[in-house]
Amino acid sequence: MIRVQAVAPDSLGAALELIPGTALLAVNGKDLEDFLDWEFLTADDQFVLRARLPSGEEIEYDVERPEGLPMGVTLEPPRIRRCANHCDFCFVDGNPQGMRQALYIRDDDYRLSFRYGNFATLTNLKRWDLERIVEYRLSPLYVSVHATDPVVRRWLLRNPEAEDHVERPVRSRARDPVGLRGSGRVDRIQQACPGAPAHARRVPGRARDGR
Ligand code: SF4
Repeated sequence: MIRVQAVAPDSLGAALELIPGTALLAVNGKDLEDFLDWEFLTADDQFVLRARLPSGEEIEYDVERPEGLPMGVTLEPPRIRRCANHCDFCFVDGNPQGMRQALYIRDDDYRLSFRYGNFATLTNLKRWDLERIVEYRLSPLYVSVHATDPVVRRWLLRNPEAEDHVERPVRSRARDPVGLRGSGRVDRIQQACPGAPAHARRVPGRARDGR
């Protein structure tokens, strides 16, 4: 379930009389878990939306969405997926005290990787997440690889549970759904971390393809 934070005037959301606080429950019978579901499932020109108004009234809307008309719905911020690793060199742990709280969040969220370009290690993915990456074709994702050897990677991440999510979703799918297309890219981002400041995310280095 996701909740409406604001609705733009002259939008489809306003025409549907969605208001802040409305719970968006399902589209075409599929439960809405987060903004990805909302954006992908409402992209069709026709869909059925089930919502619960702040009054408690539940409504089913038969929506026709003319091409180009925005939904105009701003959602409440998602709960950020946290990093499951414990790198010795974690830049978040190294932050000095007294800064704003957001700087201490070790985010590792593939959804934010898709939307904003945040780096994610993909070590906290459930099967459901992987299926979703493929279903929605979330590409590109910006993957913090650390090391391409799975054993070394687990050691660097201090996470023995880390599955080989770097290669598995890429190599097991013919369409390359996460957008890692070759070792050159992997080399160039191997030292980046989720949430790292932009200047730290792309560490200069020679890619295997020589670029
Ligand atoms: S992956 Fe990044 S955020 Fe997570 S523990 Fe390692 S350095 Fe910190």
